[in-house]
Amino acid sequence: MYEIGQSNNKSCQHCGFHTESCEHFLLDCTAFANLRVQMFNKLEGLLENNLKSYTKKSLCNILLTGEKPYLPDKFVHNKHIFFTVQTFIFKSKRMTISQRNAHPA
Ligand SMILES: [Zn+2]
Repeated sequence: MYEIGQSNNKSCQHCGFHTESCEHFLLDCTAFANLRVQMFNKLEGLLENNLKSYTKKSLCNILLTGEKPYLPDKFVHNKHIFFTVQTFIFKSKRMTISQRNAHPA
């Protein structure tokens, strides 16, 4: 989050983890565990394979870029995945611009 200007320090302000990466926010941060359960429940029916069969890294990539985004046939499939991820991000309010989150100019 620090890298994309969503935080002015690298650690997670929600749980204290030393690095708030996209992977931490999407997959690990305990502050968003309940929202993540909702997201994973939706994804379970959307993804090609069982959720547990993905590595953390591949799951994070899918959440960010879609599943096989190079295949035109996957467009609608990925649209549903993106919508699910966007709902998680929106409900988390993590990307809401506030004084606390703002990157110093
Ligand atoms: Zn955290």
